[in-house]
Amino acid sequence: MDYFPVFFDLEAQRVLIVGGGEVALRKVSLLERTGADITLVAPEIHPDLMARAAQGKLKLAIREFEPDDLRGARLVIVATAHRAVNRWIANQSDARGIPVNVVDDREASRFIVPAIIDRDPVLVAISTGGTSPVLARRLRERLEAVVPKKIGAFALWLRALRKSARRRLRDVDTRRRFFEAVVDGAAERRFVAGDLPGAQRIAQALLAEAATGPRAPGEVTLVGAGPGDPELLTLKALRALQDADVILHDRLVSDAVLDLSRRDATRISVGKSAGSIGSTQEQINQLLIEHACAGKRVVRLKGGDPFIFGRGGEELEALAQAQINFSVVPGITAAAGCAAYAGIPLTHRDHAHSVTFVTGHADKDGKEPDWRALAQPGMTAVFYMGLARTEYIVAKLIEHGAPADLPAGLVAQGTLPDQRVITATLATIMVVAGQARLESPALLIVGRVVALQPSLAWFNSGSSAEFFQTA
Ligand code: SAH
Repeated sequence: MDYFPVFFDLEAQRVLIVGGGEVALRKVSLLERTGADITLVAPEIHPDLMARAAQGKLKLAIREFEPDDLRGARLVIVATAHRAVNRWIANQSDARGIPVNVVDDREASRFIVPAIIDRDPVLVAISTGGTSPVLARRLRERLEAVVPKKIGAFALWLRALRKSARRRLRDVDTRRRFFEAVVDGAAERRFVAGDLPGAQRIAQALLAEAATGPRAPGEVTLVGAGPGDPELLTLKALRALQDADVILHDRLVSDAVLDLSRRDATRISVGKSAGSIGSTQEQINQLLIEHACAGKRVVRLKGGDPFIFGRGGEELEALAQAQINFSVVPGITAAAGCAAYAGIPLTHRDHAHSVTFVTGHADKDGKEPDWRALAQPGMTAVFYMGLARTEYIVAKLIEHGAPADLPAGLVAQGTLPDQRVITATLATIMVVAGQARLESPALLIVGRVVALQPSLAWFNSGSSAEFFQTA
């Protein structure tokens, strides 16, 4: 290890900055927030630094650096435009045992300044040991995405919670377990999601439980996994996957998405394919309840959005009945994902003023959709689970007044690398689909917007052009 990481309390400590340009200004902006007693020396001073000095935020010495400036300094940052000068000042500081950083000159520096994620009071500092500032910046960007924005406020909330925990929980271990449960569980997720009363309630329940008995309550998060491309997961979905103890997922959820879940989480496929367990809805509900009752963080992962043809509602009803905590993370539904990746805008001011999502499956009571409404001009109809019934759907639409030359398209494996799109008309789609031999999952999209696809295709568009036929 080339550097020892520390966080330095600079409150009321004298910090010397040598240099008066933009770089010095950036350093001052950050240092100001630590409550340091800042002195800046430079013959020429940036106007913003002048303004700050006028506000009493720092002291200025408008002249060249003198070794005496180092007296009493706890930290020195050097940022003049002259490398030799910088190095000379660095030597002087080092000789006096004062830690010094020369901006952009690692060799001359005793300490280096990390890239940071600032969620005050939570601070994540990143260093590549000075090897690559660009890499440090990229790492920071990636971490930015996974460190919740509210983590700082959460830390302050935890501090407040410590008082009541100390009062009610005498035993150190019990206290630690209580905080682990708060930080790792539903309380944190509620807090981060902006639900302070919810977090408070859960923390109080955990506290009461820790004071009287064992075990934290389990919970279920119903998570939409999107249509397939793992980058279409929401940040919340990613967090839920990384926090999960148990993941019950549909067969439709792609491996690429599952790969983003916590390594040691138990994964259970509850798809309706042969060989998988829990294929009935009743069994799935039971599994969810069992794991939650055992105190686990359960993620119920569904393709697309859990509330769109996903039976999410039914599962929540079962959980509510069993009095299990639950929350829902929406996902990008197949219609939105496939339309976007195929280049079919679902509405368009010239072609469609509404869009309807329809299941291509027959209703469980055998009820039919409102074909007349779906056949109306000026709207887009998206059929889920309709691949096998395309012929029937097309016939019904024509029977109810849709013109035979109405554009229609199929998107299979939408958003995935092997996505395929065909476009045709109601009259020709069966022929084109037959030639293309598409496989599930696929969506049928009907409406004039489909005619825009050839000009708006952008994803895997080579393969889509191959199957495109004009009406
Ligand atoms: N809850 C899901 C839908 C579940 S029903 C959602 O919101 O998307 C399953 C149907 O969704 C499939 O039969 C298919 O019609 C559609 N579907 C799901 N993923 C798809 C994909 N990647 N490409 C095309 N269609 C898809």
